[in-house]
Amino acid sequence: MTRNASFPTLLPVYRRIDIVFERGRGPWLWDEQGRRYLDFASGIAVTALGHAHPHLVAALTEQARKVWHVSNLFRIEQLEKLADRLIANSFAETVFLCNSGAEAIEACIKMARRFHWHRGQPERNRIITFEGAFHGRTLATISAAGSPRLTEGFAPLLDGFDIVPFADHAAVREAIGEHTAAIMIEPVQGEGGLRPIPPDCLRGLRDLCDAHDLLLIFDEVQCGMGRTGHLFACEAAGVAPDIMGLAKGLGGGFPIGACLATARAASGMTPGSHGSTFGGNPLACAVANAVLDVLLEEGFLENVRALGRYLRERLEALRARHPDRLSDIRGLGLMLGLKPAMENTDFAARLRERGLLTVPAADNVVRLLPPLVIGREEIDLACATIEAVLAEEDE
Ligand SMILES: *Cc1c(COP(=O)(O)O)cnc(C)c1O
Repeated sequence: MTRNASFPTLLPVYRRIDIVFERGRGPWLWDEQGRRYLDFASGIAVTALGHAHPHLVAALTEQARKVWHVSNLFRIEQLEKLADRLIANSFAETVFLCNSGAEAIEACIKMARRFHWHRGQPERNRIITFEGAFHGRTLATISAAGSPRLTEGFAPLLDGFDIVPFADHAAVREAIGEHTAAIMIEPVQGEGGLRPIPPDCLRGLRDLCDAHDLLLIFDEVQCGMGRTGHLFACEAAGVAPDIMGLAKGLGGGFPIGACLATARAASGMTPGSHGSTFGGNPLACAVANAVLDVLLEEGFLENVRALGRYLRERLEALRARHPDRLSDIRGLGLMLGLKPAMENTDFAARLRERGLLTVPAADNVVRLLPPLVIGREEIDLACATIEAVLAEEDE
């Protein structure tokens, strides 16, 4: 059979930018021509400690020389250590490891259904989710988010999600019925346009869950792991979920995801009920442990909060100088969004031409997701670049 030469060799599901990065160091990336870029994309909030962090490189290479993978048929020390540390620093009492955000959220969904099944109420299997949400690209997670952009052409979708408008507490209350198992939400919507859920709303959801015996699931795949200046975004609101999904920053660039839960919420999950071949292998867990070493250092997260405030102040000053060009600044910590007057993808392209990498999101937002180890000088440089693009428009 001859190959259809007109069809892309890489499945054309991405609109790729024509830049090849050759190496990185901290917040900087270099392309093949040696051109330097300041990375405020971080691989979409993944490289939380920047590129080639010496502690991560050391942990990875040291583990690579020992053993990479053994399967969950055996005990894995690096995994046990990682789980213990996630538990010691969160609401959770138990941890399941996987390889991506979507898989982490799948585990959250399955756990919530299984919880009620295990208690003799299998009819309680529906989960309330929110418009504008993003939970991943598997069939369950696109069904949970529901946006046509994600689901078109992929029917039949998975049943069992009741999607309510964003920030509509009354709609949530109305959606709760005898079949409801859980409420699932991102404490800060990432892809949806960097929309933080106000602390009062998160507390309101917790109260609703308690009153109706529902499980509260937080998708902290993007906003977790120090991104907001707290290890988990929900800490700032003082609200603990029953189940939480993590990924992105957890491995600092090495693929790993996690589902954290209370013992009660996880009570239906018995041997054989769920699994993952690669999930939690020694190599991934060694790297995630190294990420935690840094995030949990005395003062690290406090510094992220200070850097977040600093970046935000600078951006607010830009907005004050260019009110017609920048209509909104939103987000938390080092997870900030700008709403430019021009098309966000054009804005991001102009920033990139000037050497600053950012990520577009829904609602015409441009996401700024610098590594958590960013310096004030680089923040100043990024803001100068943003201002140059804003000023360019006036020319
Ligand atoms: C990225 C993301 C996911 C999906 O993660 P993948 O690793 O791409 O599967 C899920 N939820 C949120 C909030 C995300 O930002």
